[in-house]
Amino acid sequence: MPLPRRFPTIESPSLLARFPFLPQGEEWLKSLLTDNNIDLDTLIDGEWVEPIRIRGIHRMLESINLTEGVSSTTRHDIHEPYGQMVEGLGFYYAMLVVCASFDERLVKRWVEGEASRADKLLGESIDEQTFELVTHTYLSDVRSNIQSVAGVSIHAAKSSTLIYEIPMTDFIELSPRITGSYWRMVNRPISDGWVTMCAGSGESSRQRLARLLKERIRQVLVERCQINMEKMDDEFAGKFADPVGKMVAELQHSKGQEIKVTAAHEGDWPPCMTSAITDLARGENVNHAGRRFLANMSRALGLSIDEAASFFVNAPDYNEGTTKYQLGHLYEGEYTPEKCNTLKLHARCPVSQGTISDTLCNLEWMTHPLKYVRAQQRRRARDTPPEQPVVDPQSKENNQTNGAKGGDEDNDS
Ligand code: SF4
Repeated sequence: MPLPRRFPTIESPSLLARFPFLPQGEEWLKSLLTDNNIDLDTLIDGEWVEPIRIRGIHRMLESINLTEGVSSTTRHDIHEPYGQMVEGLGFYYAMLVVCASFDERLVKRWVEGEASRADKLLGESIDEQTFELVTHTYLSDVRSNIQSVAGVSIHAAKSSTLIYEIPMTDFIELSPRITGSYWRMVNRPISDGWVTMCAGSGESSRQRLARLLKERIRQVLVERCQINMEKMDDEFAGKFADPVGKMVAELQHSKGQEIKVTAAHEGDWPPCMTSAITDLARGENVNHAGRRFLANMSRALGLSIDEAASFFVNAPDYNEGTTKYQLGHLYEGEYTPEKCNTLKLHARCPVSQGTISDTLCNLEWMTHPLKYVRAQQRRRARDTPPEQPVVDPQSKENNQTNGAKGGDEDNDS
């Protein structure tokens, strides 16, 4: 079942700031950029838009580190134009960074975080009218009835006894992705093609419906990210090299992760990095700038200190304790790896020295080794056919759209 052909109109900027992922928000986000004279370079580097980038980074970090996803609270006042701009464009910035990573795990984790935030807000914190607006955006239809409770006036009981019904087609499409007997069709009352979303598992009817909406929000956001990634070329993605590096490293080090490969494959590493590793492995002396760059680059790519230390074991002056101490210091400082110009100045760019030729390095916009990595990742993502899902007949009840965090467990079976 596709989304409704016509979305309900939403004019309230504070509502769009709260739910910037809504399809109706796309035009609003564009108008925020034009009305405030924010072009791509300003969004990435502009000093005065720093709060937008900080908010975007927070959204990503919360997706990575919090099991409940992006926090539903913000310190910005979404009833004021400035707060609306920071919230809306913070979301937009985060989306561009995760897309520019071409890292499927990061995209899934961020989408999961945003969808979980929406689930929480929709289930608990917004008024009924807003809830129904959002519901009509993502489902083909919805209706509600007030269930009367003995001894309580209908008016007083309204919020706790509103029961939602949705078309069977929407339920059939979205519910198989959620674990728990509540979500099996045989356990839901159906009348004339409408499925009743009764209260259950300690949640109200509205919270159950919000849980279902989370599935559609996740699906729509993933599709939007895929479209963005298809449109991004090397140069565009390269502009986000620095925040992408930070987020990928954060994901790599996040608790409970079972990531077996580094985010950037060895084949993605730029010539300046591989030549420093090769020179050290041959026992040649690499100057201070080259060593510092190798350490900062290793951290930005999510390598552990032990992995980074292994590059130095054949250095003529190698000392395990000193190497690990110095690496620890640089890792703690979270320094951005040196730019191409700095490496050229210190004779650590093999392309400018003519010892290696590389077409990517010769492009005008290639100004940073992290841009090289992102361009390589983008090309690899583009050229690798998507993995076919393996269907396990034993796991029909599993959540099929789990993000890296493991997804929803309703525990109501
Ligand atoms: S051009 Fe930049 S990325 Fe390429 S080898 Fe030189 S320093 Fe590294």
